[in-house]
Amino acid sequence: MDGYGDDATDAHDGTHAHDAALADADPRTAAILEAERERQRSSLQLIASENHASRSVLRAQGSVFTNKYAEGVPGDRYYGGCEHADEIERLAIDRARKLFDAEHVNVQPHSGSQANAAAMLAVLEPGDTILSADLRNAGHLSHGHQANLAGQVYDVERYGLDPETGLLEYDTLRERAEDVDPDLIVSGFSAYPRTVDWERIQAIAEDVGAFHLADIAHITGLVAAGVHPSPVGVADLVTASTHKTVRAGRGGIVVCGEDLADAVDRAVMPGIQGGPAMHNVTGKAVGFGEALEPAFEAYAERVIANARALAGGLADRGCRLSTGGTDTHLVLVDLRETHDRDLLGKAAERALEDCGIVLNANAVPGDPRPPKDPSGIRAGVPALTTRGFDEGAMDAVAECIVRMLEDPEDEAVRREVTECVDELCAAHPLYE
Ligand SMILES: *Cc1c(COP(=O)(O)O)cnc(C)c1O
Repeated sequence: MDGYGDDATDAHDGTHAHDAALADADPRTAAILEAERERQRSSLQLIASENHASRSVLRAQGSVFTNKYAEGVPGDRYYGGCEHADEIERLAIDRARKLFDAEHVNVQPHSGSQANAAAMLAVLEPGDTILSADLRNAGHLSHGHQANLAGQVYDVERYGLDPETGLLEYDTLRERAEDVDPDLIVSGFSAYPRTVDWERIQAIAEDVGAFHLADIAHITGLVAAGVHPSPVGVADLVTASTHKTVRAGRGGIVVCGEDLADAVDRAVMPGIQGGPAMHNVTGKAVGFGEALEPAFEAYAERVIANARALAGGLADRGCRLSTGGTDTHLVLVDLRETHDRDLLGKAAERALEDCGIVLNANAVPGDPRPPKDPSGIRAGVPALTTRGFDEGAMDAVAECIVRMLEDPEDEAVRREVTECVDELCAAHPLYE
């Protein structure tokens, strides 16, 4: 067994004593929890934004800190009894600052979306203009979708990826920025498989007098490990998730320089949140501690190697990949130019899930179809890499995916793919 850098692969999830108590008190909930654990074990988790936290992180999150109110920042709280809350939050902040080589980190955002809302509130007034990518161009709801608060509070203008290549074209972005004259440019994506040049975007932002928010939610761990360039110290504001490529449990953070520190802290609380979820702050402290270990760098390198192996395996078997490949943890497959034209995003997602391959339908750049039933699928390898999958295993995964895409209705194919998934899962244990 060669799981990377944590104990998710070779140990139970550290909650057995608590499980027994829960099974007594609430058997129905305990059964649902066990079923979810079994689902994660017995299928391939290829959702690019998911991962498996270590038992230490799970333990930290399921702790007495869920009871504690600690509105404010360490040393300056609205409530009494915060001495240990101060300690754990300072630990999470110190580790995050070290991990990202950052001047200031706020570890309180409940999620990546909250981190984005806070970062925007820190530097914008209502009615200010944001320039960001929409869902069809690998953007995120929180970047200003009309149904999101940001879309209602700010004037949102859009830039796109090249519809032919899927690549971010910096000159096109510059032209758009010069046209729109935004107050904030948002970079960072949910489904972009290539390296982002933060300096180039920062230069564009500076030339048009805009702030630059780099949202590294998807690549937090890759940036932390130094296998993707870091926007910290380049972009004015950086937001990150703590549960995708870093395995620190559910949440978000905002990273900035000293100049924006007070504005960011005030934007998080009271701007958009009340008390911090201290149990999640505890999980962040533990997960950041794990990410500071040398084993985490090896994990991040494996993630990239595995993504390349998956991309190669899919491309060799006839899949058309947006941007032609990957530098990160994910691949984006354009199914319009892959196999059966009828089997697009949602139908492909469902057929694969029937055989234990869990990923999501995703828009491809220039997608003419609606985001709810788009043309592509997105597959990421962080979770499988945590389970110890190597490049050979990733090639087997690619084979399974392509066989299903080619013959989704064939019972024999379904049986064989399901068997292959079962074998891969059995060979890579999780929380046992
Ligand atoms: C996942 C993601 C987020 C954070 O989402 P939450 O679900 O709110 O944690 C933010 N930005 C991008 C680009 C993302 O992909």
